[in-house]
Amino acid sequence: MSALAKYDVVDIPFKGGQGVVANQSIAAGECISAESEVEKDYTTRFKFNHSCTPNAQSRSDVKGQSTRYVHALSKIEPGEEITISYIPTTMLFARRKEELQAKFDFACDCQVCQEGAERDVREVRLAACIKLFDKIPLAMQVRKPL
Ligand SMILES: [Zn+2]
Repeated sequence: MSALAKYDVVDIPFKGGQGVVANQSIAAGECISAESEVEKDYTTRFKFNHSCTPNAQSRSDVKGQSTRYVHALSKIEPGEEITISYIPTTMLFARRKEELQAKFDFACDCQVCQEGAERDVREVRLAACIKLFDKIPLAMQVRKPL
């Protein structure tokens, strides 16, 4: 690990392994890690633990080659675990559970998964409300001060 790393890899006993924890404040959009995918010691994908509501995302600049970047999706405070999602975050609970078990052999226990399918119902309803709201003419969306 570089001396300039914005994180430390530490033991997280309740997760039964290691995780990546910020050692300084990291702004939304800031690059946290950039590692070559062709190097033998490439471990980005597995160094960061999974969360269904991650605070960072992992991306390659060119698919299948060169560098994999991890960027903060929101402000991350020192001491906060940095997580990425191993699967698309738009999947519903049942599908996420299935994918994570099949591809990565674990059951996610994040806050969102603890709420299970109940949260999906709320999210689907919220999405429907937003869709309806978007159909209202713009002039009617503006709320005038009383
Ligand atoms: Zn989860």
